[in-house]
Amino acid sequence: MFKSAYFKLTLFYVLIIMVISVSFSVVLYFVSTGELNRGLRRQTSIITEMPREFPPPLSRDDFERIRQETFGTSQHRLLINLININLIVLILSSVFSYFMAKRTIGPIERSLESQKRFTADASHELRTPLTAIKTEIEVGLRDKNLSASDAKKLLKSNLQEVEKLQTLSGALLKLAQLDDKAKLEKKTINLAEITMQARDNLSKQAKEKAIKFDISAKNLSVAGDKDMLIEALSILFENAIKYSPKHSTVKVIIKKDDHQAKIVIADKGVGIHPEDLPHIFDRFYRADKSRTKSNVDGYGLGLSIVKNIIDLHSGQISAQSTPPKGSTFTIELPI
Ligand code: ADP
Repeated sequence: MFKSAYFKLTLFYVLIIMVISVSFSVVLYFVSTGELNRGLRRQTSIITEMPREFPPPLSRDDFERIRQETFGTSQHRLLINLININLIVLILSSVFSYFMAKRTIGPIERSLESQKRFTADASHELRTPLTAIKTEIEVGLRDKNLSASDAKKLLKSNLQEVEKLQTLSGALLKLAQLDDKAKLEKKTINLAEITMQARDNLSKQAKEKAIKFDISAKNLSVAGDKDMLIEALSILFENAIKYSPKHSTVKVIIKKDDHQAKIVIADKGVGIHPEDLPHIFDRFYRADKSRTKSNVDGYGLGLSIVKNIIDLHSGQISAQSTPPKGSTFTIELPI
């Protein structure tokens, strides 16, 4: 599909350039031959008006013939030159148009590819819990001696799968909303305050694993969307809890660095392998699938939501890690 689009756009660009070039050449040809003709006619009139004492070395007829020949040769040479120039323009414009077409269509192609991948991944992730629910219900219905406690177990398991679906659809919706949002309505937000709120959102999960948050915060404010920034911090805190052992500490530092506010979140968890680090902000990317998929719930969407939120705030997010000693996520936001 894109190959033919490249071809059509290249052709379109070449056509525009050639229409301009050929029209320009045609005008140039007629103007130049007109000028040439006028110049030669003036020579004739000068010679005819010469006094008799200065007879021209040639007869009038000869002179007219040479004049016509000279005019014809010049006209022909002009035509050949203009054709050559247009051929060169055609070759150069084809190369140029091809690169321009690539530049125009390239980003659209990449964006469509990523949309396609995203839809395929999302459908795949949605299908897994749905298939599990369907199979469980079918097995339950086929079992004639299904007791009330078995039915309860089945419903419980179904509920877990439905909760997974809810989490996934929530994350997908969030990403779609973030994609649509081109601009934020920014308000002044105190970073220490939102950090505490995000920590409080995760208090249940932190308690379950006896994980402590050690927060050291400077009194810094940024312009942004409060709910979104709390969401981003909550996702990072949730990950820190998910991928850390019990009884560990998650350190959060908020400080000023040049004209940036820095939020550093360091955990003592499993860490991220160097080959996974460049991809963890990609949609649906889960590092070390054998380890994380089986042990920790998630769809690999959390960090891409965080990145989208930070991008919308004109900030940056990066990650460092020394597995298995822990990971450090750093957010930089303009103050
Ligand atoms: P998930 O739902 O899998 O946690 P994320 O997008 O939040 O999705 O994270 C992507 C991947 O990055 C995770 O699967 C995990 O392997 C890795 N990761 C993220 N945060 C941490 C962390 N604090 N410690 C170790 N690995 C992490």
